[in-house]
Amino acid sequence: MTTPFVSTVLGSPRIGPNRELKRATESYWAGRVDAAALQQSARDLRRRGLAAQREQGLDSIPVNTFSFYDQILDTAVLLGALPERVASIADPLDRYFAAARGTDTITPLEMTKWFDTNYHYLVPEISPSTTFALDASKVLTELAEATEAGINARPVVIGPVTFLLLSKAVGTDTPLLSRLSELLPLYADLLGQLKAAGAEWVQLDEPALVGDRTAAEIEQARAAYAELSALTDRPAILLASYFGSLGEALPALASTDVEGIAIDLVAGDDCIGSVPDLSGKFVVAGVVDGRNIWRTDLDAALATLGALLGSVDTLAVSTSCSLLHVPYTLDAETDVDKALRSWLAFGTEKVKEVVTLATALTQGRESVEDEFALARAAASTRRDDRRLNDATVRGRLDAVLNSALGRAPAAERRKLQAEVHDLPALPTTTIGSYPQTSQIRVARAALRTGEIDQSEYLRRMRAEIADVVALQEKLDIDVLVHGEPERNDMVQYFAEQLEGFFATTNGWVQSYGTRCVRPPILYGDVSRPNPMTVDWITYAQSLTDKPVKGMLTGPVTILAWSFVRDDQPLADSANQVALAIRDETVDLQTAGIRIIQVDEPALRELLPLRAADQPTYLDWSVGSFRLATSGVADSTAIHTHLCYSEFGAVIGAIAGLDADVTSIEAARSHMEVLGDLSTVGFDLGVGPGVYDIHSPRVPGVDEIADSLREALKAVPVERLWVNPDCGLKTRGQVEVEASLRNLVEAAKLVRAEL
Ligand code: GLN
Ligand code: ZN
Repeated sequence: MTTPFVSTVLGSPRIGPNRELKRATESYWAGRVDAAALQQSARDLRRRGLAAQREQGLDSIPVNTFSFYDQILDTAVLLGALPERVASIADPLDRYFAAARGTDTITPLEMTKWFDTNYHYLVPEISPSTTFALDASKVLTELAEATEAGINARPVVIGPVTFLLLSKAVGTDTPLLSRLSELLPLYADLLGQLKAAGAEWVQLDEPALVGDRTAAEIEQARAAYAELSALTDRPAILLASYFGSLGEALPALASTDVEGIAIDLVAGDDCIGSVPDLSGKFVVAGVVDGRNIWRTDLDAALATLGALLGSVDTLAVSTSCSLLHVPYTLDAETDVDKALRSWLAFGTEKVKEVVTLATALTQGRESVEDEFALARAAASTRRDDRRLNDATVRGRLDAVLNSALGRAPAAERRKLQAEVHDLPALPTTTIGSYPQTSQIRVARAALRTGEIDQSEYLRRMRAEIADVVALQEKLDIDVLVHGEPERNDMVQYFAEQLEGFFATTNGWVQSYGTRCVRPPILYGDVSRPNPMTVDWITYAQSLTDKPVKGMLTGPVTILAWSFVRDDQPLADSANQVALAIRDETVDLQTAGIRIIQVDEPALRELLPLRAADQPTYLDWSVGSFRLATSGVADSTAIHTHLCYSEFGAVIGAIAGLDADVTSIEAARSHMEVLGDLSTVGFDLGVGPGVYDIHSPRVPGVDEIADSLREALKAVPVERLWVNPDCGLKTRGQVEVEASLRNLVEAAKLVRAEL
């Protein structure tokens, strides 16, 4: 078999190099531009994206990687699986956005994390009455656009197994894979249409097969691909996996007649040599990391490719996954020092690496020796850079780790803490942030553009803090917060102040829909040159006699929302961040702050996909939290906040954190959570969110009081706290005040019944 192509990527970012799609879409939502204008912006972006990839030399370019919101939602449209409740919206684009975002009367699809990334997809709902029907217009349009431009395009479609495994079964307990037999004819039809439209290859993405799958599921996947690959009227099939190893699913899938398999050789360790069936396959080797931002070690990647060539006939070089998860290009970063820049590769730079490796394979390494030399030089300066090996940080960390990190038993601490602050039963508090008012955003923008100076900015933020403290006093909340007005983002705020992090100016990555984030880059050893929060918190404390809670982000969450080092175990990076946070807790305590909250909303997020990898993760993540929080006196209360409602695998870890008080997002099922916690012997303070902050609805006093009475059946009164579900940053001021007023009243009501 001759090689069909030699260089590709599994997918591309789509929000636009300058977030053009975000702007266009939000303008459409706001009614400032019409659908035709939005479609035109989308077409322009696609055209530019294709042209750039061709210019860089990829010889197979993925299409149908564009999306107005999300690729799983697109797949639901492709398969006719939008929920019944949006069917009455006639306009397809508005129907699509209604499924994504809801309307006044329609609840949107649920959103959840895309495997272990920070991208979020919409969860299709499939009920017994869902009747699938093919609508291939989107993929055909994108294929036609590329073909017209003379591009060798490879349509990318989410495969049927992953689509069903990621969907939610509504109104039935039967696993959704039982619906495969209904989907396969649609995929057959789709493959025929793509073939007729000129596609030589189609990429079917099956990332859900990377993870713990039962033998029955693997068999169903095998049978599905056996059926699809037995079709004659179709393009060649590239079955794409990413985010880890296929493991046992690999030989099963390789036993079918699919022509190609894409394998993640960065996150995964599928041992190609031991899979004899792969010998007849075209392998798309993901040797360039599609998820992290480090420059590829070209020598190592070429060696991997060479080893692969020993056992497979033909291969192409690729990224390990779609480039959706990295920023567009390093060119947009003007502020990065020369050394750090030479260690990095964003989207465009990764495409270049792919092409370089493919050239080395086909024409010999000599032809691209310059690129190899540059990569080697960067690797060597990176290895030698003192910022990556700070003896002071490492020495301090060793010393702290060798000292006893335990705190006194929880009950003893509770007693000591009660002597510091005289709190009523069922103390009320909030999670940290208050509404991000337009004044806050204006001030931040004005500081950025130089319109106001640092001291004016400080003055305005202090005014915000004073307002938030006054509001909490008026509402008679027991433990106050400063409201976090100075934080653009709970991770970036700290990354900007810590050594070892680089905060990009333009490194936007899509998080969901039109929402983009700029993950900081953790490149070196971490230390904290100066206190990061003490001035703000002590200012808030100076305005009130009630206790003000210090607010920090925990090490696991800081890592989860950053690009992390790949030259040392994540656990080591976590401990370095933890040491910096620990320094901050000690400074807060010295400044008189005796309640400190260390948020870990991402504890669940970083959980590895495969169960076998989870215990190690839970061990180091809990360890880093304890390192961060055990530097203070037993009389200083450590709070934490967790932000998801699927506790499952991490419930034991929540107890392991040993925080004096844990507030948890649990609006819909908080009483169940309390039960789950008691099964793991949880004997610490807990604040199950008594109302959902994701909606503007104001909860009634009776409703909150009922929740509290219910909670008291599971938690003794001396351990129960009263708080909302999560931070209030995204809410409006009016509803926040009304909701908190009811929360305090409900707490007082139930207190009186004790
Ligand atoms: N303290 C943060 C806030 O209130 C917590 C945010 C979160 O849980 N994601 O905004
Ligand atoms: Zn939260």
